[in-house]
Formats: sequence, C-alpha cells, structure tokens
Amino acid sequence: MAVRNHFDHRRVPDATSESEATALPNGVASVLAVLPSSAVVLDREDRVLRASSAARAFGLVKGDRMMAAELLALARQVRRDGEIRESELEVAGHKFGQEATSFAVRVAPLGSHGQVLVLAEDQTERRRVEAVRRDFVANVSHELKTPVGALSLLAETIQDAADDPEAVTRFAGRMQHEAARLNYLVQDLITLSRIQGGEPIPIPGPVPVDEVMHEAVDRCNTKAAAKDITLVAGGTEGLRVWGDDELLVTALRNLIDNAVAYSPEHTRVVVSARPAGESVEISVSDQGIGIPESAQERIFERFFRVDAARSRATGGTGLGLAIVKHVSVAHGGEVAVWSKEGSGSTFTLRLPAFGGTAVTESHSTTTTPLEAAK
Ligand code: ADP
Repeated sequence: MAVRNHFDHRRVPDATSESEATALPNGVASVLAVLPSSAVVLDREDRVLRASSAARAFGLVKGDRMMAAELLALARQVRRDGEIRESELEVAGHKFGQEATSFAVRVAPLGSHGQVLVLAEDQTERRRVEAVRRDFVANVSHELKTPVGALSLLAETIQDAADDPEAVTRFAGRMQHEAARLNYLVQDLITLSRIQGGEPIPIPGPVPVDEVMHEAVDRCNTKAAAKDITLVAGGTEGLRVWGDDELLVTALRNLIDNAVAYSPEHTRVVVSARPAGESVEISVSDQGIGIPESAQERIFERFFRVDAARSRATGGTGLGLAIVKHVSVAHGGEVAVWSKEGSGSTFTLRLPAFGGTAVTESHSTTTTPLEAAK
C-alpha cells in the first residue's frame, strides 16, 4: 500500500504537468491566429506544439520538429534564463532554386511550463526595397554630380576668361545647357516621387485621349522639327480614359520624346489611339534605332540606358520610361514595347477606358489624323 501510495503521489502531479505542458496558455492560440508573422510554440522538450502555416511553408518546421538549428539554440537559452531574445536569421530555400529567406526573429518564454514562443518576420521584401532605395540614392547622386561638376568647372573657366567676351559667351551657353540638364533631372525626380509612392491619383476624372495626344505632340514639335521628323497623331477619336490628364500628357510626351531622340533625321513618328475592349491603347511608333531584345525588359528601370553616351547626348535623364511605367500602373494600366534593332520601336500604353468601355461616343470610330506636324 505504501508503495502504491508513493507511486500515486509521484504520478498524479506528473500527469497534470504533462497535460499543462502541452496545452497553450489561455488566449495564446487566438493571438497567434491573427499574427502576420510565422509563429511556433515549442514545449519544454523542444517539440513543436503549434506552428502557423507560414512557419511550415518557409520550412522552419517539419512535423513536430523545429528545423532551424539556430532557432532551437535560441529557444534553449530563453528557456534557461527567461530572457527575451531577438536575432536575424537566413534560412536557405527548402525547394530547389528557391532563394534564402531573411527573418527577424523574437524568442520569448511562454507560461511557466518551459514553453517558448518563436516569432519570425519575413523581411526579404523589406531588404530588397532597402537595397533598391540605396541603389537609387547612389544613382541620383551620381547623375547630379555630372552636371554640377560641369557647372562648377565652367564657372571657373569663365572667371579665368573674364577679359575674353567671346569665350565668356561660349562658356555661358554651355552653363545654360548643363543647368537645363539639371533642371530636367530634378523635374523627372519630382514626377517620379509623386507617382511611385503608390498613392492614388490626386483627383481622377474622365480624360479625353485626343486632348492628351494633342498636348503631348505639341510639346514635342520643336524637337521633332529640329530633326525634320514628321509627327503624326491619329487613330480613333472621342476616346476617354479614367485618370489625370497632366500625368498622362507627361507619360505620352516621354514616349514621343524618346521616339524622336532615338530616330534618325527625316523619319516619321506615329501616335495613335484605339479602343481595345475595356481599355484604350495609345501607341507611339518610330522608325529609329530599335532596342536589343536583351535590354527590352530593363528599359523601364530607373537610370537604365542601352547606350549611356547617346542618352546623355540627347538630354535623356534615364528616368523617362520609369515615369511612363509608374503613370500607367497608377492608372491601373500597363505599358508594353515591341522593337527591332535597326527597324524601330512601338510603345503601347494600355489604360482603362472611362465608363468601363472604350467606345462611348458615336463618332468614335473615325480614323482621321488629329495632327500632322513637322
Ligand atoms: P533616357 O532618358 O535615357 O531616354 P528612358 O527611361 O526614357 O531614358 O529610356 C531608357 C532607355 O531605353 C534609353 O536610354 C534608350 O536606350 C532606350 N529607349 C527608350 N525609348 C527608345 C526608342 N523609342 N528607341 C530606341 N531606344 C529607346
């Protein structure tokens, strides 16, 4: 009897602690369910009591085992001294070709039965955005340095040539050119920062496509005329899209500017609109140098240029197409490119039509040129 008593005495509290050790403290399960991060609860034997589906999908947990050795080591330290710990962790992709995931982890004691809570926040995207931002700042600084350096050199040269009026005039002209370049760059940076924050278009409304085309063509006429390039605007009249007219003019002007800049003299640039189901397509076609296939995916990146020297020579900032892309995305649309080296390029803006359908007015299927200018 005494033996039995002793046995009971030993077993009963043990059995209780066993079930307590495998049960989560009150309310924890519901808190874990709403947390966006990967969450894992380990029992005092390092077995996984609970794991969010994200923790399993990332390969942190398999069955009832925690796979990341570093996390297990952290969990043991936390269990030992009860201190909350934070760390960063790279977990190799568990499928072939999958990239490593970078986590910010927080490990904390849970309840009084040796349980430990592991929270892991996937920060791969944040890291990527940080890297893009760092790159962008480095690129902007580099782009600003060139005209600023040139301006300072020219100012020095003018000072030295103070008694030579002809030289002063010549260098002053070059200063104006560099200042204009700086101005374009700053303007483009302002436009880009306005639209790429993912903020909605300020006050969207119905925008007549004809007016956008007229305005954009108008602003490019001088440059086109200087190269004897014929600018033709045409296609379907009376179309309307939903958005911001100023941003759309900027996007279309950038496309026409490029078409002119990357085309030889005496060629044609055609700007044309047409309905396409629930969208409107505005295309700009040139007979220019074209874009190598390998570069076509990258031309919409900020500061990417196929030929940096040529871009600078034509006053390019390297931001034109990035602006076009962000404007089209902000309008719920997209931009596509077709190009063949030596033959020419066609850029097509596809934008949601105002009212959900492209053809809204009876005269909208005529295809007379809106403007033909040299
Ligand atoms: P940039 O200011 O250099 O023109 P963009 O962002 O407007 O910058 O264009 C990026 C690059 O794409 C250009 O440097 C040029 O190499 C190429 N590109 C853009 N449009 C055309 C075009 N119509 N024909 C040929 N190349 C083009």
